[in-house]
This record gives sequence, C-alpha cells and structure tokens, in this order.
Amino acid sequence: ADASALVDRLTAVVADFPKPGILFRDITPVFADAEAFGVVCAELAEPFEGAFTAVAGIEARGFALAGGIGAQTGTGVLTVRKAGKLPGEVLSESYALEYGEATIELRPGQLPRGSRVLVVDDVLATGGTAEASITLLERAGYEVVGVAVLLELDGLGGRDRLASRVPVHAISSA
Ligand code: IMP
Repeated sequence: ADASALVDRLTAVVADFPKPGILFRDITPVFADAEAFGVVCAELAEPFEGAFTAVAGIEARGFALAGGIGAQTGTGVLTVRKAGKLPGEVLSESYALEYGEATIELRPGQLPRGSRVLVVDDVLATGGTAEASITLLERAGYEVVGVAVLLELDGLGGRDRLASRVPVHAISSA
C-alpha cells in the first residue's frame, strides 16, 4: 500500500485538542496497524537510504518511528527528550512556543563525532522542535542528514524554517 494514502486514511483529526481552537492530528493509529507501521518506517527512511548511521526520535511519538526505522535499517537510535528525563550529562536547547518556551535534551557522547543522523517525528508544524533537535545533535558533534515526518502541516512555515539547514521529507501534508 502507498504510505501517504495509509497516513491519510489512518490519521484521526481531533478538534479542540489539547486546547480550544487547535485541530490535532493523531497519527497513533498508524503505529497500531502492523502493515502501515512497516510501510511508513520504510518510506520515512527511503530518501536517505545509506546516508545515515543512526536515527534520532523526538519525544514521544518520534521514538516509535525511530525504533522501527532503526530495526529495519540496522541503525542505532538516539532519543531527543523533554527536559528533566535524562540522567547525567545532557545538552539542552530551548526554543519559543506560541505561548512560552520548551526545552529538549540529548545525552552527548553515545556515538562517534561525525556520525550521520536522520531526525524523525510524527508531525512537523512550525518546525521549532525539529530545528532545536538539529541544533542539539550538531552540538553533540553529529551531522544531521535530514528530517523525516509522517505529516507536515501546511502554512506554519516548518519546511522553510528547516530547509536552509537540512532536507525535509514528509510522507503526507494537511
Ligand atoms: P513544531 O515544533 O511547531 O513543529 O511542533 C511539532 C511538535 O509538536 C512535534 O513533536 C509534534 O509531535 C507536535 N505536534 C504539533 N502539532 C501536532 C498535531 O497536530 N498532532 C500531533 N503532534 C503535533
């Protein structure tokens, strides 16, 4: 089956979540469907085949995708986490949200410097989270080869924000 058709068919659109006025895309049914999960993991990695040695998943839905891609392609997985979850030495990066600020963290030193990393997440919106993830991975000495997402939300500028830094691959858009 075609990956983009699977994403479109299985994604649930939820009004007023997590706040009034927000139209939330819930892609977790794609994870629950065995065939769809395998197809989308393969399709996320396809443009970057052979170009990466690790996959970085963004908490939390990016972890499932990174695990699937890592297992399919024989690459390791890095976890870009919300602040306060990782023990020991961490690199932190804060970025602006519509209201307020968010911080994500990465444990450095898990892979050799210069390792080539593919960043994955479920949804690309403004691109703030992905951009901060790229910065963190680069600060850890890695080379980010691209960002791959299931769904890109149009009109929020995410792709433009990332395009000057790395290639962006979205399976579907809404
Ligand atoms: P951004 O930083 O504005 O690009 O937002 C992307 C981050 O917020 C990702 O980690 C997504 O998981 C999450 N996100 C934003 N909008 C949605 C949505 O509609 N559904 C699911 N996750 C979303």
